[in-house]
Amino acid sequence: MAALAATRVALTTLMTIFEKVKKTFQQLNVSDAPGVESLFAELRAAAERERAEFVSRRAADPAQREKFAKALRDRWLARKGGLLAQVDENWLKPAGKELKPAVGKQFNELRRATVGLEFKKLVKAIPLEEAPVVQMGLPLPFEAAPATPRDLTLPGYRRPPGSIHPVTRMQREIEDIFLRLGFRVESGPEVESTYYNFDSLNIPESHPSRDDWDTLYIDAKTVLRTHTSPVQIRSMEQYGAPLYILIPGKCYRHDNPDSTHSPMFHQIEGLAVDEDITFADLKGTLDYFAKMLFGEKVRTRFQPSFFPFTEPSGEVAVSCFVCDGRGCRVCKESGWIELMGCGMVHPQVLRNGGIDPDKYSGWAFGLGVDRFAMVKYDIHDIQLFFQGDMRFLEQF
Ligand SMILES: [Zn+2]
Repeated sequence: MAALAATRVALTTLMTIFEKVKKTFQQLNVSDAPGVESLFAELRAAAERERAEFVSRRAADPAQREKFAKALRDRWLARKGGLLAQVDENWLKPAGKELKPAVGKQFNELRRATVGLEFKKLVKAIPLEEAPVVQMGLPLPFEAAPATPRDLTLPGYRRPPGSIHPVTRMQREIEDIFLRLGFRVESGPEVESTYYNFDSLNIPESHPSRDDWDTLYIDAKTVLRTHTSPVQIRSMEQYGAPLYILIPGKCYRHDNPDSTHSPMFHQIEGLAVDEDITFADLKGTLDYFAKMLFGEKVRTRFQPSFFPFTEPSGEVAVSCFVCDGRGCRVCKESGWIELMGCGMVHPQVLRNGGIDPDKYSGWAFGLGVDRFAMVKYDIHDIQLFFQGDMRFLEQF
């Protein structure tokens, strides 16, 4: 019995697909869904092949063109004796109860594929005798060498030089200011452990930002980092104190895209850890930064705030560089533009990074690069940064 089955398998591999449609599944020894699917795949491939052959065939005149197309159509779709009719008769109708759903689904797909051969369009696709031969979809320029040598005096192809993306440009501008102050640029993984993203930063299990709505989880212990702050801990562990670093990078949150939100955005984080670092150092540095970025005239404003990883924490705003604080569209008539969150590094966070909070203190800030670019370049939709629209990007 086994030997007989083996012979049958060997025989069916020698058969063409057109011979196979004349046989039943039982005769073909096909008894499961994968077997059915592979038969139908063979048939669809055959349909595609025949279509390609017809398209590369030449006809003497439009009438002959029509005749060819009709022949192909009849071969596949004729009610009597067409290949689909045979499939219906020999495969679909006698199929057992278990195989019927698979066969029915495949049959429908095949029908769609063959109707998709679009025989009417095919008529036009068959070239007439005087038309150049196009073989198997290869476009002409690759077929024939140019008849005349190229004119080498013609101007060459122009490749536009491209430009720096506005977000990258903004990021570099910010980096440059801090590099001049002696900071170093650090980076870290975007797929991050919950330990570095949350626990080490003093964000307890109960903190709302750990909720699914804000964080994209890979698994229970792995997330797409929601901020660049994990790199603070990683750098403290790696280098110890003193430490002056700037951390630019992509962050991810479960936000619906709109004009001010994007599930992927860019942050820059700054961290300074040394002996005798005070809030005055933080204020002085960020005030200097704001003046370097927005002009000597701007003033900074610090307001108390809360973050789990800094104590005390603050929000920094800068007087509007467009209206000088009088109120305009850019500052939404308030005279101030919110810049970033900041604060003195929480002693527990220093401890988590392996730094002794009794000896060292530090400050940190975090800002959104995309938002900075929007304010600086007067852009009203964050989505424009990520849509790859040349009309937008060419302006930078
Ligand atoms: Zn303003």
